[in-house]
Amino acid sequence: MPNFSLEPQVFLDAARQYQTPFHLYDEKGIRETARRLKKAFSGVPTFQEYFAVKALPTPAILRILKEEGCGVDCASTAELMLAKACGFEGQDIMFSANDVPPEEFKLARKMNAFINLDDITHVETLRDNGGVPEEVCLRYNPGSSFNIAGAIMGEPEEAKYGMTRPQLTEALLKLKALGAKKFGLHSFVSSNTTDTNYYPALARLLFKTGVQLMEETGLTLSFVNLSGGIGIPYRPDAAEADIEQIGAGVAREYDKIFTQKGITGVAIKTELGRYMTGPHGWLVTTILHEKRIYRHYLGVDASACDLMRPAMYGAYHHITIPAREGQPATEMVDVTGSLCENNDKFAINRLLPETQIGDVLVIHDTGAHGLSMGYNYNGKLRCKEVLYCQDGSFKMIRRAETVRDYFATLDIDPDYGALITEE
Ligand SMILES: *Cc1c(COP(=O)(O)O)cnc(C)c1O
Repeated sequence: MPNFSLEPQVFLDAARQYQTPFHLYDEKGIRETARRLKKAFSGVPTFQEYFAVKALPTPAILRILKEEGCGVDCASTAELMLAKACGFEGQDIMFSANDVPPEEFKLARKMNAFINLDDITHVETLRDNGGVPEEVCLRYNPGSSFNIAGAIMGEPEEAKYGMTRPQLTEALLKLKALGAKKFGLHSFVSSNTTDTNYYPALARLLFKTGVQLMEETGLTLSFVNLSGGIGIPYRPDAAEADIEQIGAGVAREYDKIFTQKGITGVAIKTELGRYMTGPHGWLVTTILHEKRIYRHYLGVDASACDLMRPAMYGAYHHITIPAREGQPATEMVDVTGSLCENNDKFAINRLLPETQIGDVLVIHDTGAHGLSMGYNYNGKLRCKEVLYCQDGSFKMIRRAETVRDYFATLDIDPDYGALITEE
């Protein structure tokens, strides 16, 4: 079930204070999730979450997660700089890149971040761009289907990430010759899964592979990075991931494969994005138009530029109307944005209560891969972000884009943009 922890009145209060559309994030919820995750993984000796910055790259949020002990997972120059600006440094940063421009390794090395190599050819790239550190992480792609109890959890063979099993050995031997002493092992094979068995099964695979690689290369396995992929319940009938069971399952594998064989000191890392912040964000928007042709349309002031997942993946996002809480859902509607693209629909054939123009509408679970995936098609400007602070106040943590921002990369007088907004 989507997260209903905020009272409907909170959205109405926020919409009174800030013009819609905006994403609203719940500080308390994010902190609670970070604490719950840490506790769930307390059965393994050393655990740290590296929040996947791409999910919600906003400093106020990154600082909250930092206070809760999280690191960050970055994949670009801008994300590395953002991490730096928020006070993350050194081994609190994982640089999990793929297909990166070589110079980006230089910056990551300069910041002393963990380097997570995606390809065997990147060993030389790293050597030539900042140098090989003592400790390097490798991305593993196990290939074929990743099955758990008969259910396919991912199709790694179709994924562009990671190295094959023989390449892991070869890469480590090359890295060893270049001075590496320790290694981490990482794999990202499934996305948005709430299956309790996913992380434990992935852990088993990485733990066993790590032990083999130690034997083959003489290097020390220093950490296993389970990456992201734990999902959230977007639909009302979906169950949430049982994070306590997941943590306990990983700890059981840890005990069997490491502790009982006398292998110590292997840290566990995760790079969760969606699980950490997804349920703690909502896109708050207002109904601008109502249209009845072959279908009944509610046109809102947000668009796919503020939340792309429904247009891009046909993703379901639950929708509620705070002022009409408890009223029967009798109207079958499509909820649309204003792009000249027929896939700009937040909901299709959705039953909602009867509404009026001006009603505030809340799109749930937008706290990860929401605004960060946004774009500027049709000259649409991305909306603002508001934090619902623990003390009950609201704070704008990212302003809305302006025409001036849109014009900033163009060879045109920037004041022209300003003139338009002033008119
Ligand atoms: C996107 C990504 C994540 C986060 O994925 P979620 O599905 O949000 O948990 C973690 N690690 C890497 C390398 C990624 O690319």
